[in-house]
Amino acid sequence: MRKPPKGDLPKYIETLVRDALTSKRKECVIWPFWTNNKGYGGITLKRKRVYVHRLAWKIAYGSIPDGKKVLHECDNPPCFNPRHLFLGTQMDNVKDSIKKGRFHHGESGSSAILTEKQVTEIRQRLAKGGEIRKKIGADYGVSRQTINNIAWGLTWRW
Ligand SMILES: [Zn+2]
Repeated sequence: MRKPPKGDLPKYIETLVRDALTSKRKECVIWPFWTNNKGYGGITLKRKRVYVHRLAWKIAYGSIPDGKKVLHECDNPPCFNPRHLFLGTQMDNVKDSIKKGRFHHGESGSSAILTEKQVTEIRQRLAKGGEIRKKIGADYGVSRQTINNIAWGLTWRW
């Protein structure tokens, strides 16, 4: 993984963020350096991990209210174009995932969509254990991979 350039990283990010805002840039602005396993760009500031998209939001719009998350309109985790970011709750994040079809992967081309309630149920069943994931998926008309994603918390965390 490439290391970010030396020097003042927040300044570097700020320049790109301001540029994206003033140029009304439509495309994603991709963070080219360190990302976490979900693809979110991060830097270390005063020994703390700071996510680039959150930093970009703050630079562009100000502070992030308590309990709010900075979400991606473009569904592209390494993107930090402030015009692609919006504030939401964790629940919005889940709804957004569902809307964008991250939970659509039905095995036979079916387009089963999970509701939040179903996702919660699935998590409860997974937590209880003793069931194979394929079976749980079949009950909801989604693939085992979808169940795996939920199990791994790849797409969200509560
Ligand atoms: Zn984007």
